[in-house]
Amino acid sequence: MSNSFKPATLCVQGGWQPKKGEPRVLPIYQSTTFKYETSEQMAKLFDLEESGYFYTRLQNPTNDAVASKIAALEGGVAAMLTSSGQAANFFACFNICEAGDHIVSATGIYGGTYNLLSVTLKKLGIECTFIDQDASEEEISKAFRPNTKLLFGEMISNPGVMVLDIEKFAHIAHKHGVPLIVDNTFATPINCRPFEWGADIVTHSTTKYMDGHATAVGGCIVDSGNFDWEAHADKYPGLCQPDESYHGLTYTKTFGKMAYITKATSQLMRDLGSIQSPQNAFLLNLGLETLHLRMPQHCKNALAVAKWLQNCDKVAWVNYPDLEGNKYYELTKKYLPNGSCGVLSFGLKGGRDVSIKFMDSLKLAAIVTHVADARTCVLHPASHTHRQLTDEQLKEAGIAPDLIRFSVGIESADDIIADIEQALNQ
Ligand SMILES: *Cc1c(COP(=O)(O)O)cnc(C)c1O
Repeated sequence: MSNSFKPATLCVQGGWQPKKGEPRVLPIYQSTTFKYETSEQMAKLFDLEESGYFYTRLQNPTNDAVASKIAALEGGVAAMLTSSGQAANFFACFNICEAGDHIVSATGIYGGTYNLLSVTLKKLGIECTFIDQDASEEEISKAFRPNTKLLFGEMISNPGVMVLDIEKFAHIAHKHGVPLIVDNTFATPINCRPFEWGADIVTHSTTKYMDGHATAVGGCIVDSGNFDWEAHADKYPGLCQPDESYHGLTYTKTFGKMAYITKATSQLMRDLGSIQSPQNAFLLNLGLETLHLRMPQHCKNALAVAKWLQNCDKVAWVNYPDLEGNKYYELTKKYLPNGSCGVLSFGLKGGRDVSIKFMDSLKLAAIVTHVADARTCVLHPASHTHRQLTDEQLKEAGIAPDLIRFSVGIESADDIIADIEQALNQ
């Protein structure tokens, strides 16, 4: 199927392309193994001489169909599904970093990813320098070292909903001869396609809007195919030098633009696992079929809620990038002209105790740790994810004690606002 179709068409019909007599709907290939007729056929697969399915840890037809839909939506050349967003970000970095290497990343990223980069990768000998994503090009450039292998940021950060100046980031990365990896979870390719602005690799927690129904944890890595690994061959020996575990094959020479994803599959999936189950990939595909309908509704509702909150005298502040006057309003107009996402945050006059009373009084919006699905949900980081911190420590972590994270769903905006209003009156 042609990748030149519009996103709506790719959401519905991308990926699975049945041939004569095959199921119209993507089947769940619930099989660990695949059958061959001769021993030689199988041997060629193990040597990466031919492509084909042999064991679901490496590849599965259901997963591949969904990965190719996401690759088409992002405008990339190849993609792989992972068991979670965390696995996607780990693999995306670890595929081109090893002990002794260095990463530069934006600071205001998802807590799990921050921990991965600052604590867990450090144990593997990979160091990370965190930078303020709003700093100047000169300031951010100071963080780079000769052993820096990538620059990382989130298109719209979770939970701060900061918008990345992606062109600036791409320019900095390329000036230092490294790829830009962008986590596009909150924007989704419906609202922004980072490759069009210079990103080289995109990651997703498909757990959020892509699945959209809070049914399946999953992740995805997409490669634009644009980064020239060979031009920086000394930096990326894993891609540009022979792999002894495959009889001396060199990924860039054998696979060209598919080198990065092929290596991630044939080395990282082989050795570390973390596949998405075909059952979850099937659920993810159902979610993707309506992504183009859900995202505009999330954005429309979130803007209506944000505007209502802004005019409410019990509300101290509102943070939503699409609101005029927001720090990221101009970047939002540039990179996310159709809207950012459904997540916003706000604070109530009266602080922490008032916030808790408010949340407990909500009826429609459920208190859950999840964000970004069809149902409106709410979280108070100071009482939940960051509850061990004092107000002082919260401030240092950039989280106001009264901050309420509100993930606006696709219900009627009138009902969501009415729920907020009745809770504020309690
Ligand atoms: C949730 C999230 C992750 C982690 O994804 P999981 O699927 O929960 O492992 C990574 N990045 C962002 C931006 C997220 O919102």
